[in-house]
Amino acid sequence: MAKQRMQQCLSCGAFSLKTTCPSCGERAQAAAPLKWSPEDHRAALRRKMNGVEEASWPAQLATLPNLEDLKSQAASEEE
Ligand SMILES: [Zn+2]
Repeated sequence: MAKQRMQQCLSCGAFSLKTTCPSCGERAQAAAPLKWSPEDHRAALRRKMNGVEEASWPAQLATLPNLEDLKSQAASEEE
């Protein structure tokens, strides 16, 4: 059993899950895995897509209530 399920035919280049090509019958071997990097190469595109650099973006983030309101609320609950 191959470690990677996706196989690619060595002669015609067709993709399959089998080690023999379904279109030409030749041998197929594991297709190269997708390139992966811990660095987010598309971060700039993603920020642009979500409008992160616009001035209105921070307003839509979740915020905590005012600290003084939290203190007075906790004090009233203790009584
Ligand atoms: Zn083939």
